[in-house]
Amino acid sequence: MVLSKTASDSDESIHSTFASRYVRTSLPRFKMPENSIPKDAAYQIINDELMLDGNPRTQKQAVGVGTVGSSEAIMLDGLAFKRKWQNTRKAQGLPYDKPNIVTGANVQVCWEKFARYFEVELKEVKLSEGWDTPIHVDAASGGFIAPFIYPELEWDFRLPLVKSINVSGHKYGLVYAGIGWVIWRSKEDLPEELIFHINYLGADQPTFTLNFSKGSSQVIAQYYQLIRLGFEGYRNVMENCHENAMVLKQGLEKTGRFNIVSKDDGVPLVAFSLKDNKRHDEFEVAEMLRRFGWIVPAYTMPADAQHVTVPTEWKEWQEN
Ligand SMILES: *Cc1c(COP(=O)(O)O)cnc(C)c1O
Repeated sequence: MVLSKTASDSDESIHSTFASRYVRTSLPRFKMPENSIPKDAAYQIINDELMLDGNPRTQKQAVGVGTVGSSEAIMLDGLAFKRKWQNTRKAQGLPYDKPNIVTGANVQVCWEKFARYFEVELKEVKLSEGWDTPIHVDAASGGFIAPFIYPELEWDFRLPLVKSINVSGHKYGLVYAGIGWVIWRSKEDLPEELIFHINYLGADQPTFTLNFSKGSSQVIAQYYQLIRLGFEGYRNVMENCHENAMVLKQGLEKTGRFNIVSKDDGVPLVAFSLKDNKRHDEFEVAEMLRRFGWIVPAYTMPADAQHVTVPTEWKEWQEN
């Protein structure tokens, strides 16, 4: 992993883990720590904590669940939305057999899966103001970017209509594949009837996931990244990604052959199209780059911009 900025107070090298201030002063319990800590300290803290965690006492306050990724998170959350809506309609004596969900035209395929699997009509509308409807934020990538480099952007529970948020731990959360998260604003937003209570593991354990068993390694890895990097570490990584994207963009512009179609702010990626695609198109560019080991997907755009194809390049936070 490459971090561009490494000089800060918390990066001083401390070799005696147990003597270090990182292990002696406790970390905030429900927040990401502000600063990074050395890897040995992060490891030791988690290791000690897991040892003490032999009995599965569950956190009943938490209204959220770890999932395999954002797709599972979105299935569960969509289901919660649907059930809550149905319960409200039933109570009002109104029909509840035709739920719909409104999305933008550019949503990830998991939303179409959700709609088809759970029999909810998917409606695409042009976004406009003035709606009073509960909102789910699909923050699969952005959820681990915006808080660190666009803290003033209001997209989360600061907005009263936002009821739930998902994020992929295995994207900008910096964990290897197999982890996502979904959180609900309050217990009221997750109908109790969807939660199963089991005691197979010795204590009451509420579960709301599609799969029952799941490895804990990604959860631990996410925890490790959060406390090891802290807020400053994630901010450094995201700033670095953004700077890389800007370098890439400038390089592409310098060739004079491409139109940049992505905005500078947002997910750190560069989307571009060919200025002149009479002789070669974006799919050929993608194909040629692939021969050199660069995976640069070429996409067609949503319905009203079908004529535009765009290869997107981004520099991963990790080097392979
Ligand atoms: C990646 C992505 C998903 C699906 O997430 P997985 O973690 O791959 O299941 C959903 N929505 C958006 C916006 C995504 O970028």
